[in-house]
Amino acid sequence: MTTCRIHSIETLGGVDGPGVRCVVFFQGCPLRCLYCQNPDTQCDEGGREVSITELMRTIKRMRPYFGSEGGVTLSGGEPLAQPAAVAEVLRACRAAGIHTAIDTSGACDTPAAREAAALADLLLLDIKHPDTVICKALTGCGLESAMTLLKAAQARQQAVWIRHVVVPGWSDTPACIDELADLLAPFSCIQRIELLPYHRLAAEKYRALGQPLPLPDTPAADPVAVRKLQQQLNRAMRLIDFSAGRP
Ligand code: SF4
Repeated sequence: MTTCRIHSIETLGGVDGPGVRCVVFFQGCPLRCLYCQNPDTQCDEGGREVSITELMRTIKRMRPYFGSEGGVTLSGGEPLAQPAAVAEVLRACRAAGIHTAIDTSGACDTPAAREAAALADLLLLDIKHPDTVICKALTGCGLESAMTLLKAAQARQQAVWIRHVVVPGWSDTPACIDELADLLAPFSCIQRIELLPYHRLAAEKYRALGQPLPLPDTPAADPVAVRKLQQQLNRAMRLIDFSAGRP
């Protein structure tokens, strides 16, 4: 019986993919992003073990809420750090006609992770910084593996939504957003790019874990400034602006 280690399940998620979604947060992540809002999902040993059978039972119970657009998003932590379980869930969802998405940093570039990633209807891929050196300083990992995943998605024309957290002092300049647009412009598989403002709401989680907040002096990103950067990016990418109305 295949099992996996999960942190939690959000049964009526509204931001991690289209429609109403059941979001499964996998436990464990190989990265240590300085702006991480879910530090409690990083450690491989935390969370709880569940069988895929139990997970699918929960997912199927939520089915009436999915409507025509919604479905399941496997998030984390890093779901592709548990590729066998992810592949099994995705196959089971596909057999049941449930839309699937993986929310990933792309940091796990293994044959099993690549195989699992290919099974999702949609990839929510974090590009954490367009400069690989700064990306490594910010997260512990350069850009290469995320770009490998994006190139594979392009080759198979798998739908991708890019997410990028705007962190003051790190990734909040128009020049950085231009660099991001240049990096992503060749990829027709990208359907939307969301800039997400860095916030400090995880301070309490870090305190509870007995860890210092990694960016103690970095303020939350100004939502108005982020909105302007989003418009700049959408113009550069000729993408529809989906951010209107988002907090
Ligand atoms: S990839 Fe996500 S869960 Fe992992 S450290 Fe970065 S922000 Fe946190």
